Amino acid sequence: MADLRIPKRFQILGQTIEVVWDVELNHKNDWNGSAVYRKNQIRIQPNGDGTPRTQDQIGHTFCHELMHWILYYAAAFYPSSKEHLHQDEGLVDLAGGLLHQALTSMEYEGGA
Ligand SMILES: [Zn+2]
Repeated sequence: MADLRIPKRFQILGQTIEVVWDVELNHKNDWNGSAVYRKNQIRIQPNGDGTPRTQDQIGHTFCHELMHWILYYAAAFYPSSKEHLHQDEGLVDLAGGLLHQALTSMEYEGGA
């Protein structure tokens, strides 16, 4: 399994989402990540002295928050979907975890 590279930013439906490392996130809210819809951000708790985190955990957090964003826009633009799909933490975590595993287990021609 390869570590997932965490981007600085990406676009989704024309919106630029910034990825922000927040060393206070876990201390302030007991969260490892957050999708901040008002600010077009994904905030992630990095690895640190008080909050040791593996690359796998950080990759999972990124995919979880990315799935919040994907479902946020999916629900907005796909009329028959549930309105609050992006707030269904069970679905978000399952789909985000599946995405994380697929991305980190991909094998390419010519090696990694
Ligand atoms: Zn969540």
